[in-house]
Amino acid sequence: MFDGALTQGGWLRGQAPDGTVSARLGEQELALDEQGRFFAAFDRDAKNTSELVASLADGRTVRSPVGVSPRDWDIEHINVARRPSGASEAFMRRRQPELDAIWDARTANSPSDGWQQDFIWPVTGRISGRFGSQRVYRGEPGSYHSGLDIAPGAGTPFVAPADGVVTLAARDEFSLEGHLIIVDHGAGLNSAFLHASQIFVTEGQQVRQGERLGLVGATGRTTGPHLHWSIKWHLSRLDPLLFVGPMP
Ligand SMILES: [Zn+2]
Repeated sequence: MFDGALTQGGWLRGQAPDGTVSARLGEQELALDEQGRFFAAFDRDAKNTSELVASLADGRTVRSPVGVSPRDWDIEHINVARRPSGASEAFMRRRQPELDAIWDARTANSPSDGWQQDFIWPVTGRISGRFGSQRVYRGEPGSYHSGLDIAPGAGTPFVAPADGVVTLAARDEFSLEGHLIIVDHGAGLNSAFLHASQIFVTEGQQVRQGERLGLVGATGRTTGPHLHWSIKWHLSRLDPLLFVGPMP
């Protein structure tokens, strides 16, 4: 039994059959809570079919195919050569510890039931960038936009979209993300919030849905103040728009 946004960048929540000892979506092992409930999700580039597999205590295996509907991503072809990334050695010396800290925060595996909640908007305002959009430079694809950009104006407070544990709160600005917050919602699901001007939480802190995390800003690499909100489930990048209802 499962339900959710069964599409690329989407997710599902389900109930495993009685007697399930382990379950997976494709190759990804699922975390089962005490009632056998689980969360799973589909990467932006997920194939059109997947499979939920439950292994039961009596040795049986239950397989459920899952259709994952394709999305029509906003792809812009431009007749300009892709800029060489040109990351200098000096930059990478600064960057690598940041990447390591982000990896540790994204894979922290905190005990939280936030994944069971219906998410709320961390902040409302103009949507200035969508998840999955991508530029192709003379046939060479650039990396796609990995989050949802919301631009309510500098200094607007943003809140936790669901319960979780703060696994990163960058008081020193990261080179690209600026003041960055990562919240672990449990079961492999986590949110990142970029470019904050101020941070109100500390690492290890438990936060409740709706609790203030920081203020929208323009720290790191950005052209103007906005909140970049990205969601991941293990290695899969997800579309935040599929976690929240229409903007209130
Ligand atoms: Zn963004």
